[in-house]
Amino acid sequence: MEIKQNYSLEKHNTFRLPVKARWFLEYDTEEDIVTALRDEYFMECYKIHIGAGSNLLFLNDFNGIILHSRIKDITVISENEESVCLKVGSGVIWDELVQYAVSHGWGGIENLSHIPGEVGAAAIQNIGAYGVEVKDVIDSVEGYHIPTLEKQVFSKAECQYAYRSSIFKTEYADQYIIAYVNIRLSKKPLFSLSYGNLKDELAKYPEISLQTIRDAIIAIRSKKLPDPEQIGNAGSFFMNPVVTEEEFQELKNKFPDIPSYPASDNKVKVPAAWLIEQCGFKGQAYGQAGVYDKQALVLVNLGNADGNEIALLADIIIQTVEVRFGIRLRPEVKYIC
Ligand SMILES: Cc1cc2nc3c(=O)[nH]c(=O)nc-3n(C[C@H](O)[C@H](O)[C@H](O)COP(=O)(O)OP(=O)(O)OC[C@H]3O[C@@H](n4cnc5c(N)ncnc54)[C@H](O)[C@@H]3O)c2cc1C
Repeated sequence: MEIKQNYSLEKHNTFRLPVKARWFLEYDTEEDIVTALRDEYFMECYKIHIGAGSNLLFLNDFNGIILHSRIKDITVISENEESVCLKVGSGVIWDELVQYAVSHGWGGIENLSHIPGEVGAAAIQNIGAYGVEVKDVIDSVEGYHIPTLEKQVFSKAECQYAYRSSIFKTEYADQYIIAYVNIRLSKKPLFSLSYGNLKDELAKYPEISLQTIRDAIIAIRSKKLPDPEQIGNAGSFFMNPVVTEEEFQELKNKFPDIPSYPASDNKVKVPAAWLIEQCGFKGQAYGQAGVYDKQALVLVNLGNADGNEIALLADIIIQTVEVRFGIRLRPEVKYIC
């Protein structure tokens, strides 16, 4: 376990904002979590937990304690002919887990290749891409209740997964430290290839396998999304709005070109990127904050933006889209102040 004071978070947020944390506590084991949080001072302190900071927008320096997991073990806890169940530390880099699974021939998460962040956050966010969500492979999630320090194991049903959401973002937001995520992968994987231009990209490869699916997805994503090492960003800044069938028909009458995808419960998902692009924001700069020129859903730090400048641009986009389409965009990125 390591505790640092007045610690720069520049390398811990993908917008690369040079904010500082009053305290930064990294733990290596479950015992560390309990020991650290039993300390009276830290117990009382304002605290949040972060992963790799790839879905966060810091508005200021953080005047409290930031927790970060360095639990990095991956253990096979059960297996049979069909599947394998892995217990994965919350501090494991998500994409390293995907590579690990693919190299063992275990399927289920290859479509989630190249998503930044750590395993603990993946289970909180219900990350998704190319027709797959992480909830599809989650068996259970192990966490510590911050106020009582009691350990609890949440079944998949108890996690209440929904589009980019779970109970850890709603009822239990900021109440649990996720220590381990238990994931079930298939030894006889069925490939999920129907989403977007994945099949076209795969046609460039000699065969379809877990590894070529991973390679194709990395190739597509690298062309489409900015690398946070080069341009600060947090991926999709907004969630795709979900509307009822009736609401969508009204929109379609007014805007015949509006695209859509089916969502659960007979609802309709409207791509936020299209709404933003129609309002003329794609590629535009507002001070040091901007809208990425290849993908309107991504807000970028053009160099020296501060969090409030990016939040202001997000507000302008939300208001403009609402006036034009009557749809209020919701940030996927979490604001920290
Ligand atoms: C270039 C780029 C592309 C992206 N593409 C996608 C994509 O295709 N699909 C997608 O779903 N997302 C995508 N994202 C968003 C992001 O990668 C995910 O939301 C990711 O899961 C965030 O992980 P993180 O470790 O960075 O978490 P953070 O951003 O640090 O934190 C996210 C949330 O999890 C909480 N948290 C983190 N770890 C723990 C823990 N151990 N215990 C308790 N709480 C914790 C934090 O408090 C916060 O609420 C993208 C981001 C970028 C920058």
